[in-house]
Amino acid sequence: MKRFKSFIARTSVLGLLLLALSMAALAQDHPLQIKYWLAMSQPGSHLFEVTIEVIAPRDEKLKSLDFQMPKWSPGRYAVFDFAKNVQEVKAREACPAGLDCTTPNLTVTRVDDQTWRAELGSFRPAGASLMFSYKVFANDLSGTFSQLDARHANLNGGNVFMYLVNHKQDPVALSINAPKGWHIVNGRTEKKDQSDFQFPNWDILTDTPTEIAPDWTDDEFRVDGKTYHVVVHSMGKEGGKRPALVRDLEKVVRAETAMWGPPEFDSYTFLFHFANDGHSGDGMEHLTSTQIIMPGALADKDMLEETLDAAAHEFFHVWNVKRLRPIELGPWDFTRPANTRGLWIAEGITNYYGHLMQRRAGLWNDAKLFSELTDQIAEVENSPGSKLMSAEESSLSAPFIDDAPHAQQTNLANASVSYYPKGEVVGLALDLLIRGKTHGKASLDEVMRRMYEEFYLKSPNASYYLRGRGYTAEDFEKIVSQVAGGEMSDFFKRHVRGVEPPPYEEAFAQLGLRFVRTARAPVTIGITADESEIVNFKVASLRPDSPAAAAGLQVGDAITSFGGNRFTSANFSKVLARYKPGDRVQVSFLRNARPMTTAITLGPPLLFDYKIEENPNASAEARALRATWLNGK
Ligand SMILES: [Zn+2]
Ligand SMILES: [Zn+2]
Repeated sequence: MKRFKSFIARTSVLGLLLLALSMAALAQDHPLQIKYWLAMSQPGSHLFEVTIEVIAPRDEKLKSLDFQMPKWSPGRYAVFDFAKNVQEVKAREACPAGLDCTTPNLTVTRVDDQTWRAELGSFRPAGASLMFSYKVFANDLSGTFSQLDARHANLNGGNVFMYLVNHKQDPVALSINAPKGWHIVNGRTEKKDQSDFQFPNWDILTDTPTEIAPDWTDDEFRVDGKTYHVVVHSMGKEGGKRPALVRDLEKVVRAETAMWGPPEFDSYTFLFHFANDGHSGDGMEHLTSTQIIMPGALADKDMLEETLDAAAHEFFHVWNVKRLRPIELGPWDFTRPANTRGLWIAEGITNYYGHLMQRRAGLWNDAKLFSELTDQIAEVENSPGSKLMSAEESSLSAPFIDDAPHAQQTNLANASVSYYPKGEVVGLALDLLIRGKTHGKASLDEVMRRMYEEFYLKSPNASYYLRGRGYTAEDFEKIVSQVAGGEMSDFFKRHVRGVEPPPYEEAFAQLGLRFVRTARAPVTIGITADESEIVNFKVASLRPDSPAAAAGLQVGDAITSFGGNRFTSANFSKVLARYKPGDRVQVSFLRNARPMTTAITLGPPLLFDYKIEENPNASAEARALRATWLNGK
C-alpha cells in the first residue's frame, strides 16, 4: 500500500475547489484499499446494511475521510438525493484480522446534505481498517433505485454505495452476505453463487446492478463467441413464453451486433423482472448488463413484444452511451446533475435503432416499423413544446424531464419536448437523407460506427473511466458531414439547435416512400375535456398556442354553451365538425361558478396523424435504398 497526502481543513469555496483539484490529482497516485460489505439481515425492513472498509494509510497528517452519497445516478438524469434514505451512520476501527474484539466508535460528522466525515482519531496502528457503516432504505423496483423485501434484493449501487471523496477512481471490492438460499447474479458474475467481486473503480461497481433472490432463472445463448445470460425473476405467470423471449433476444443481439461488430465483453446479462404489480416499469443500460423491469407478467398479452422492444433499446446502449458517450457523461461529479447537449444522440438515436433493429431482426414487419416511427413523429409534431424547445435544449433539460419529481407546478407539458422521440425523429431524418445523398454508400449506421471507432476505440483515454474520450456536439456534427460527403451544418442549425421540424417528406422520398399527413379534426379549438364531468365541458387542458387560449379560456372553466348549443365531452367532436377554420363562435362558461362569455375564432388543424405509404412509381434505386435500410445490408 502506498502513502497518500493529508486532507486539509476546508476554509473557503475557492480553497475547497483548489483542494479538490489538488487532492484529485494526489489521490490518483495514492489509491486506498476499499471494500464494500453488503448485508440484508432483515429483508422485510427494506434496509440494506452497508459497511465500507478502508485500510487506513500510515499517515499521521490524515485526520479524516469523507464519504458521499450521489445526488443522482447515470442513465437517469433527474436529481433524487439518495442521501435522504441513509440512516444510522457510524465508524469504528476494525479488530485486527482473526480477532473478535470491540473497538470504540469514531466521530462521524455530517458535513452537508450528502457527505459524512469520519474522524480517524489518534489511535491508528499500522494496517488497521476503518469500518464506516450505515443503513439505506430501499423499496423501489426500478432501473435507478433499489429494492429489498422478502422476495428479493434488487440493487442499483448508485443509491446504496457511498464513494470516498477523491477516491472514486480507486479499485474496490464487494462482498455480499445474502440470506440463506438466495442466489446472487450480475453482469460480472463469473461462477455460480459468486458473492465476492472486484471492480476497477466505484463507477463500475455502481454500473453493475445485482439481483439476489431464491428463484430467478438463467437461460443462455451465444453469438460470435460471446455468452448472453437471460436472467428472469417473474412475480407472475410466464405462460411458457420464456423460451420465446430467449429465442427472440438472440435475434435482436444478432441484428445489433451485425451493425456494430462484436461487442467488447465476453459475457452480457439481460436482467429481467416481470413485476406483475401494474406500475413498476423501467429499463437501464450498463456496460455488461441491462436491468429491465416490466409492470406485468410475461404471460400477459403483448408483454413478450413490449419486453423485446425495451431490450432492443437497452442493448443498443452497449455501444451508444455506455461506451461511445457525450463528453459530459463520465466520469461524473455526483454533487450536481450532468449537463450535456447530447442526449438526443445518446437516447433519441438509440430509440430510433431500437425500433429499426426489431425490423432487421425479423420481429417486426414494415407496417409495424412505419406505424411506430409515425407515432414518434406525431408525438413530437403534435406537442406545443416541440415548437419551443430544440433537441439540444431538451438534452440540457434532462434533470427536469427525465422522471423528475416536481413539488412545484410546471408548464413542462406545454414548453418541453422529450429528447427520446425528438432525437428519434431527427436521427431517422438524418439516416434517410444520408442514404439518399450518398446513393446508399453511407448511412447513420456508418456515422455511429465511425464515432465508436474514433472516440471510443482510438482516442487516448481521457480519464480513469473507460476507454477513449467522450465526444462533443461539434464532433458528432463533423462526423455526420464527413460520412454524408457534404456539409450538414444547415441541418443541425435548423433541426438540432433550432426547432424546425425535420424534412420528413424529403427524407422518406429518398427511399420511395410517401409521408402522408391527415388532420385529426377539421378545426382547432385547443382544449381537452375533463371526462369525469358529464353535464358541461370542463376544460382539463389547454394548448397555449390555441384559439381557446387566445380567447382567454382557462383550465377548470366549464363551458355551458358553444354557439348557442349545449357542449359536453360526449358531443365535443360532433359539435366542432359543424364549423370551419375562421368561424367565430360565442361561448358561455362558468368560472368559479360565475357566468362569463367570450368569442373563439376557430383555427386551422393543429393535430395530425401520419402515415408512410409506398410510392408505386419509386425508382429502382429508391427501392434498393429502402431494402438496405430495412434489412441492414
Ligand atoms: Zn428480483
Ligand atoms: Zn435509453
